[in-house]
Amino acid sequence: MTKKTKESIAQSWEHKYKQYCFNARIKKEQKIDRIREQNQKNLEYQIEKINRKHQSDLSKKKLEYERKAKNEIRALDGKPQREYKTKHWTRNQKLQFALDIAQENSKLRDTDKNGEGFCISCNQKKSWSELAGGHRYSRMFQSICLHKANINAQCHSCNWTTGPSGCILEAEKINTEYEKNIIKKRGEDKFLELQLMKQEELSNPVAYKWTEIKLDELIPDLITENERLWETKNFYKPKKNWRKIYEKELKRE
Ligand SMILES: [Zn+2]
Repeated sequence: MTKKTKESIAQSWEHKYKQYCFNARIKKEQKIDRIREQNQKNLEYQIEKINRKHQSDLSKKKLEYERKAKNEIRALDGKPQREYKTKHWTRNQKLQFALDIAQENSKLRDTDKNGEGFCISCNQKKSWSELAGGHRYSRMFQSICLHKANINAQCHSCNWTTGPSGCILEAEKINTEYEKNIIKKRGEDKFLELQLMKQEELSNPVAYKWTEIKLDELIPDLITENERLWETKNFYKPKKNWRKIYEKELKRE
């Protein structure tokens, strides 16, 4: 061992500082890259949502105008007007409706009074508009698609990555963290319950399909829970009035 001198001590600490700078710079760049990537995914998600809404608005209007045109032609020919009744929801539409409420409920449950909460799989604090009600196990599993432990507030970036267009390796990491947090936040028994139900459904998928009767039993509870959860929030009220929409559907002939 060489003997320590004033210079060698100063040099050694200087060297340590340089090393620190090098590592810190890498970490800083990684942080910036991550934020960039997350914002990009969030942006893509928002754009996709706007595009979907736009497409559905167009098809609705197209149908409406076609019907109006037909009726005007009927009037021209002196024929009676036809009344177009909107059809009852299909089972799938009803299930989608229940899912929409359940997902909003999970966001409400997992955020504070200002709508801020932590993503279940990256643990970062996010605002209301940056969060979705994200499923751990695909909503294709009907036995657990409405299970509360299976739906948690998740940022759009993580939600995107674990979706069909995400990267498989990254998704695996995100899902592992998701599972850890299910255990932490909802309890290990709930997590095991989810896994068990999923396994059971795989061996007998038909038995777990939601029926309209069961959905009609569940939806009012979901709506009541939704209204109760909204009461604790300080920010804007929901755009969709679930209760009104559902009552309208029930009254439909
Ligand atoms: Zn996240």
